[in-house]
Amino acid sequence: MGKWLNKILKPTDPAESKQHAELEDLALLVEGRLAGAERKRILRHLNRCGKCYEILQETLKDASAEGSQKPDPTVWWKRKSVYAVAASIIMIFIIGGQLIEKYRTQHAKVISAKLILDQELKDILLENNDLHWKNAARIERLVTAFHKKGLSVKQISRVVLSKPYYQTKSFFGPKEILLIRIEDNVAYLEIQEIE
Ligand SMILES: [Zn+2]
Repeated sequence: MGKWLNKILKPTDPAESKQHAELEDLALLVEGRLAGAERKRILRHLNRCGKCYEILQETLKDASAEGSQKPDPTVWWKRKSVYAVAASIIMIFIIGGQLIEKYRTQHAKVISAKLILDQELKDILLENNDLHWKNAARIERLVTAFHKKGLSVKQISRVVLSKPYYQTKSFFGPKEILLIRIEDNVAYLEIQEIE
């Protein structure tokens, strides 16, 4: 957890602002006894001030060592509070828009969906036995079919099928579902039979 905290807590701006955090305030913060504007001010300051960050880091270092050592009576924080402080600082980063963009671009690309495998989708799957589709026209037909079924997909550059698809011979064959996961413009398809 130490490394992770270091990453999270490292100030983005080395320039120090005027009002340093009082040791007592840091203690109150870690104990979760600081609220409102005061709490906000200290968290914000910790994000910018190298000096106070160092003090907090020392505090956190001791706190991480707490588990492996005999409890020290001068240790006034609790592990749980340290997590709370880390979470607050993450929140500040997010509010500051420094993490949120990265988060968005990393996660917005992943789409998961399930579609009933109807004849239109089957026809596209049965065009050939390729597991890796590179044919743009075929991919386009798939995207169009997705759109018709209410799954809006902006762009797919590649399709990866988990295993070859063969049409069920029986009219009374099991119902099939197409599991779709789209990540970084690649669509991963898997066919699942349901009762
Ligand atoms: Zn400071």
